[in-house]
Amino acid sequence: MKSFDILITNGTILTMDAQNRVIENGTLGIQGDAISHVGKGDDKVFQANKSIDAKGGLILPGLINGHTHAAMSLFRGLADDLPLMKWLNNYIFPAESRLDASAVYIGTLLACAEMILSGTTTFCDMYLFEKEVARASKKAGMRSLVGEVLYDFDSPNYGPVENGLKYTENLIQTWKDDPLVSVAVEPHALFTCSPALLTASYELAAQYDVPLIIHVAETQSEVDQVREKYGKHPVEHLQSLGILGPRLIADHCVHLREEEIRLLGENQVKVIHNPESNMKLASGIAPVPELLANGVTVGLGTDGCASNNNLDLFAEMDTASKLHKIKTMDTTVMDALTVLRMATIEGAKALGMKDRVGSLERGKKADIIILDTKKPHLTPLYHPVSHLVYAAKGSDVSHSIINGQLVMEDRRLLTIDLPELIRKIREKSKDVKSWIKT
Ligand SMILES: [Zn+2]
Repeated sequence: MKSFDILITNGTILTMDAQNRVIENGTLGIQGDAISHVGKGDDKVFQANKSIDAKGGLILPGLINGHTHAAMSLFRGLADDLPLMKWLNNYIFPAESRLDASAVYIGTLLACAEMILSGTTTFCDMYLFEKEVARASKKAGMRSLVGEVLYDFDSPNYGPVENGLKYTENLIQTWKDDPLVSVAVEPHALFTCSPALLTASYELAAQYDVPLIIHVAETQSEVDQVREKYGKHPVEHLQSLGILGPRLIADHCVHLREEEIRLLGENQVKVIHNPESNMKLASGIAPVPELLANGVTVGLGTDGCASNNNLDLFAEMDTASKLHKIKTMDTTVMDALTVLRMATIEGAKALGMKDRVGSLERGKKADIIILDTKKPHLTPLYHPVSHLVYAAKGSDVSHSIINGQLVMEDRRLLTIDLPELIRKIREKSKDVKSWIKT
């Protein structure tokens, strides 16, 4: 008789493997931090320390949020519907300048709670006080790729930028062998980072063989500034600096010319698409179908809570699919399977984690979610992939396992004291309100 630490039975398994295999009445066994069995199985021949009955629901890889600023959960709904510069200058920048380590820690923990409760098991973060983000992610039991935001001006965390590179190096060394937290080098954007800072960031990333993450061509104004300063479009500017390559993860990529799309594909740059943030900030629509046609790996992200205003990747998948259909007036563009892969295995590839997560296969780390499908809005169920993209909500996720650890059971968070956290956040929100200029 085979025995497991955790055994999940009685659900439809969407493996998201290379063949997109779907296993009805599937059984999934976990040993330690890894998946040791995926298949059809009579659960009577298995035994386990912990058994979970999926009750006929869906079993799939945990979702991967490819781009966020987790602690911006503190600024959710602080100000909306304003001209971009007014929103940034009067609300977001003044509030961010007052942040400290403890605010970032609880803000990130709140984001982790929201992400686990809506089916996300891995997130990629860029923000200030990133040591606290790493710590909160670890406390929540979430997998993460984190990095301190670097720019030419002084940071409320590390001061002048030389310290920022040192801070990042220290972060890389501290979390080097951690099973959950990984670190990237994260210069903010081409209009906020000098060529020297971008090159130094690339060298640090290469030295430690970690990803380099940057916002690219998010707005037309950014493209105009880069052209004015350097006489080049953003992707060409990156190429001239010698930093276009497989290590680079480019967030947004909204305003690209054909030539730039081709360059991203040729250089195996990874892109993270953030449709809801791009819509809410009226940034534009990223040319995702064209990127995919050029062989670019594209993952999905929510961006920060101030520009979304939630971290629910189910909503993001729905939006991603529909946004490109209306842009192209073509119902076949960005079909449900393509989008679900972007939120799972393609997201894992984008973050350099495809050998560890993103699909349910023997030997991979056990990052798994279960969806309860006994709901009016999920009934009947002809095609699971369709429901996941067009009908399901984050709140349909009943269980979450990350790295073999059960972190949510029947919608109860096991790693975070949610009532206590909400109390602290409400208290902190009074400070946040007093920081802004109106
Ligand atoms: Zn961002």
